[in-house]
Order: sequence, then C-alpha cells, then structure tokens
Amino acid sequence: MDNRENSYSQAFKQIAKTANSPLPLKNVLNSAAKSAAKALKAVGCSIMLLNPQREHFDIIAAYGLSDLYLRKGALKASKSLPEVLSGKLVAIFDVSQDERTQYPEAAEMEGISSVVAAPIPQRGEIIGEIRIYTREPRKFSQADTDFLTTVANIIAVSLEKNELYQILKAEHEETVTKRRKLTETPELPSSSLRPSSFGHPSEQEFAKLLDFYRIEWLYEPRSFPLARQNGKVVEMFTPDFYLPELDLYIELTTLKQSLITEKNRKLRRLRDLYPEVNIKLLNKSDYLRLLAKYGYGRLGGTKAKGMDRVLFSHTQIQRRVNALAKRVSHDYTGKKLVLVGILKGVMCFMSDLMQHITLPLNVDFMAISYYGSNNESAVKITKDLDTSIAELDVLMVEDIVDTGMTLNYVLDHLASHNPASLRVCTLLDKRVRRLIDVPLDYIGFEIPDEFVVGYGLDYLGEYRNLPFIGVLKPELIEEKGKT
Ligand code: 5GP
Repeated sequence: MDNRENSYSQAFKQIAKTANSPLPLKNVLNSAAKSAAKALKAVGCSIMLLNPQREHFDIIAAYGLSDLYLRKGALKASKSLPEVLSGKLVAIFDVSQDERTQYPEAAEMEGISSVVAAPIPQRGEIIGEIRIYTREPRKFSQADTDFLTTVANIIAVSLEKNELYQILKAEHEETVTKRRKLTETPELPSSSLRPSSFGHPSEQEFAKLLDFYRIEWLYEPRSFPLARQNGKVVEMFTPDFYLPELDLYIELTTLKQSLITEKNRKLRRLRDLYPEVNIKLLNKSDYLRLLAKYGYGRLGGTKAKGMDRVLFSHTQIQRRVNALAKRVSHDYTGKKLVLVGILKGVMCFMSDLMQHITLPLNVDFMAISYYGSNNESAVKITKDLDTSIAELDVLMVEDIVDTGMTLNYVLDHLASHNPASLRVCTLLDKRVRRLIDVPLDYIGFEIPDEFVVGYGLDYLGEYRNLPFIGVLKPELIEEKGKT
C-alpha cells in the first residue's frame, strides 16, 4: 500500500467510525471535513447542503477555512459550480482564472488555488456537495476524486441516518406531548419568525418590497456592541434588516438629515469594529425614490412637470450604442448569440443595439410584473421567452440597472434554462444605488443617483418616446400617488 492509499484508508476508518457514533451530526460532518482535507493534503474542506428551494447552498460543516471566507456571501446553486447539481464531480485547477468561481477575490485572499467538488447524492437526487481547497495549484488524480466521491456517499448516509433519527425523535416527542396535554393546559403556538410589528411603517413597506423580489430577510436579528465600560456593553447598534442570501445588513432611516449625523457616527464605528460586516444605509430620500420608481408617492415636492436637463443627447447615445455593438460583434464571433430584453424600457436600446451588431442573432423578450402592479406580493414573469435558450450564448440586454433586484431575479431564471453562456449588457448603470451585486459585462453609461426618462424609459408610462435621456425635475413632478 503506498502512502496515499494508506492515508485514504485511515481517513475512511475515521469517517465511518464517527458516522456510526452517537455524536451530533455537526460533529460528525466537521470531523469528516477534517479527515478528508488531511487525507488529500488540502488546506480546507466545506460541506454544503442545498436549501429546500434548491436556490443556494448552506455551509453546514467546514475545516481549515477562515470565518471571513465562510461568510463571503450566498453561494448560488445556479452560479457556483452548477455542474455538481447534475451529479458531476468538478475540479478547478486555477480558481482565479475560471469563470465558474463565484467569489475569486475571496478565494485569492484565502490563498486558495485549486478546488474539487463532489456531489452528495441521496435517493437519486443531489442534495449538496463536499469541496476540497488546496493552496498550491493541483491536478486531482483518479484516486483523489474516487476518495472524495466515497466520502460524499458516506456523508449522504450520515445525513439520512440523522433525518430518520430526527423523525423518530419528533414522533416520540409528539406522543409525550399528547400525553401531557391530557393533563396540562396547552402551550401557545410558537411565534413566527416574522415580526408582529415594525418600528416604522417604512420598514414594513421595505419588507414588502423585499418579499416581492423574493429576497429573504430578517428583521433586527443582531445587535452589535459598539462600546463597553467595565466589561459592560454601553452602546449597541441594531440594523433594521439582514438579507442572509446577500450577507447584507440594511439600516433604513427616515429621520431628518440633522438627526442622521448620530446614526452615521454609529455606522462608522460599526464598520471599524466589524470590518467583515456588510451594511448599507438607506436614507429618507433613497427610500422615497425607491418607492417612487414603482409609482408610490412622488419624486419631489410641488406640482408641474418638465425636464430638468438632458443627460445624454440622441447623438451621444447613438455613438455609445454603436461602440457597444462593435464590442459585442467582436466577442460573439462564431457563437450562437441571442439577445434577451425585458419589456418595455429596453425597446429603444435593443432596437438600436441589434441593428449595429454585425453577426447573425436571435432576439427574445420577457416581461415581469413590477412592485405595486396589480397588488401582487411577489415578482412574476408575465411573459416568458418564446424559444429555448439551452446551449445558446445569451446576452441579457437591460435599459438600466439600479438596485439590481430585477436583474438578479431574471438572471437566476435564465441560468436555470442552461444557456451556453450568460452575460449582461446595460445601457445605464446607476451603480451608487446597488443593493445586489450583479455582474455587468457591457455598460453604456454610468449615471448618478437620479431618476431618468426617455429613450424607452418611462415615469408612470410617459416619456418613453423622448429621443434623449434626461432627468425629470424632481421638485416639479405632480404627485400621482400609487397607480
Ligand atoms: P432595479 O431592480 O435594478 O432596482 O431596477 C430596474 C428597473 O427599474 C429598470 O429596469 C427600470 O424599469 C426601473 N428603473 C430604475 N431606475 C430608473 C430610472 O432612473 N428611470 C426609470 N424610468 N426607470 C428606472
């Protein structure tokens, strides 16, 4: 037996023994992660499970990886080594060069060069994966991958064993509770994770907006100690929302500007003390403009309409669109290009862009419901693609990316249809307002935080036919209220 075989057989012995022990599942899996990493002479290992909606992975055990790396952000099932979900083992020689790496910077900071991931199968379905990370670039051998596949199978058995145990335990507890209920007054039902009330109506409205875009949120889940005296916490900060999939805290403030100074001071302190915490402040005007975009309230004060100024003239737009089309024509030579747009804002841009692209291409459109439309509680695709995009090179064409919530939703949808590639071309990028980091491959213009209309973009249905892009006078827009 050579050294490698010996270390694999030692690891199997240890993993199987722990799996068959009465230890809690967490310990069993952490121990498996450690044994696997050591046997493969790797720097770290993680074990992840798909969430019930099969949208993202949750890390349930790990070894050798820093807290910072483990909390790097949501691992989207569609973006992070998606082939694993179809039961394939995936090995990446150089994570910094491979586009399947979802967080290349985090991997670089952690000193990771190569990754190998094996699916965890259970009853014909992939329920998760085990990943091994190495510091030096490595070509994994057949023996390495066979070893990892077997560890994945042992983990699957451990998970199933634990599930059965939990079911039996729950049944047992139910019987005990039933017996107890015969003699005692019943317990109150457990309270929902949703808060029964919000501190401010704006928070409730914001929660509805997040629900609409199917973005998971928790209300005030964590308090951060900011100052201590004699070991006691004397100052705390509790952000309003935490968005677990984005690993992002949001503090909403509808206070007057004069009162925000104190909040800003606390935020600065929080960022100093907890640099790994990702937090964004939405102030009153950010928040009102977010809602105004969907036709709620007004963009500004008094009445009358009008353009404040032209941001990009017709000629400027044409020049830029032409340049983008040239780059697209170059990059997609020899590929099967499909342009996908979302109605209706993209119509002018799509029309001009496609006319300047010098390649054969197809065009398709989708339409989605917007927040506030028909009182719907969640975003819906109201018109899906007419044709299949499987194995085609999809370029998603957008008029404007603002918070990123729309694009994030649509990209997830498109990725699930297995295109050969998926990229984004947006005419306007309102980067300062981004909440979700969406990848943009082609950008026409970066614009400041202002509400723009024209060249397809509307305000409550109007202004789409302007040949230029301009800024509406915020203080001159008549209050239209919710439409
Ligand atoms: P997101 O989901 O990125 O916040 O918003 C994207 C959508 O909001 C765009 O497709 C567009 O319909 C709308 N939008 C965002 N900013 C503006 C703007 O400044 N003007 C107009 N007319 N629509 C905008």
